[in-house]
Amino acid sequence: MQGHHNQLIQAFSFSALLFLCASLFPNFITYTQHGITQVVSLWQALMLLADHYSYFLAGLFAFTILIMPIAVSLLLLLAHTNYWQVLNAHNARHLAKLLSVLKPLNLTDIFLVAVLVSAFKLMSFAELEMGLGFWAYILFVLCFIEALSLFDHEFMWRNQTQCNLNLIEPKENATTLPAVLKRCKVCGFLGEGDKCQRCYAKLKYRKAQSIQKSLAWMLTSVVLLIPANFLPIMDTISLGLHTPATIFSGVQVLWEDGSYPVATLIFLASICIPALKALLLSYLLIRVKIPKDPLKATKVYRLLEFIGRWSMIDVFVVIILVSLVQLGTVLNVEPEIGIVFFTLMVLCQIAAVNSFDPRLLWDKNNQ
Ligand SMILES: [Zn+2]
Repeated sequence: MQGHHNQLIQAFSFSALLFLCASLFPNFITYTQHGITQVVSLWQALMLLADHYSYFLAGLFAFTILIMPIAVSLLLLLAHTNYWQVLNAHNARHLAKLLSVLKPLNLTDIFLVAVLVSAFKLMSFAELEMGLGFWAYILFVLCFIEALSLFDHEFMWRNQTQCNLNLIEPKENATTLPAVLKRCKVCGFLGEGDKCQRCYAKLKYRKAQSIQKSLAWMLTSVVLLIPANFLPIMDTISLGLHTPATIFSGVQVLWEDGSYPVATLIFLASICIPALKALLLSYLLIRVKIPKDPLKATKVYRLLEFIGRWSMIDVFVVIILVSLVQLGTVLNVEPEIGIVFFTLMVLCQIAAVNSFDPRLLWDKNNQ
């Protein structure tokens, strides 16, 4: 059973790596406007972004579609081979910790949705054809998501024999003393003391200053919401004619073009979700101070974790349009300052949710 599980993860992460490499250089998208045709591959798009525009956007793009998936696939491959079990404890700890940091940063599926949204936006003024690179990228996302969903954190740590030497499992009756035992947030091992026995991470009973940090990140994100929504996020230049677009006007244009599902998706992801996140997080902060119904509050927290990534769609749409649409004077898309504020706003919200410790919701309940 274990061997079978290992082989499945190996197969999916290896295929993910192959498909990702295969999607980089062949033609990703071809588009034609006013008789001019341009063929762009993912790699060309990345290089163009770095050469002509901001390193900030290029770095974000490279990390999401290239660095993060390659690192995670390689780590998944390694952690499910026989070599993993006998790897020395020091290296194994570092690699496993790296995997647990990188894994939640997966945005490849969001990127794929953003590609489709961009295609809808482009269709109104150019003829489109998706190339081999695009189909390879879809296969990569499917394999990668499957490998991630098969991955079991606890299984990986248990399989690493070197880290599990000399572990003292808590006694049965120790569970009656929850205040003494701490669950390691890196590897999940339940133990006592200041340091996790298995992965050597610092053990904390609760995240330090969780409320203050969470509140500070949230307030910053609310301030950033204003420039993010009112400043233009991109500028479309067609035959010398500038058409700057804010997030809301982008939704409006899609709606007027009749792309109702896409317009709704962007409206939900870019306008509703950021506002909803700020509201839900304020609700949680109040629930820590005035404890009531911790189960419901915990469900709200899970929802927050789940919806957070979807606000990134618009960031990717701008990155994709800017890097793909370069037809000189005929048609050109350029990023505007609003997208930087928007990205910072999303990142602040993610930080706010991450610094919140959901265990605080239960503390008053257990006393
Ligand atoms: Zn640990």
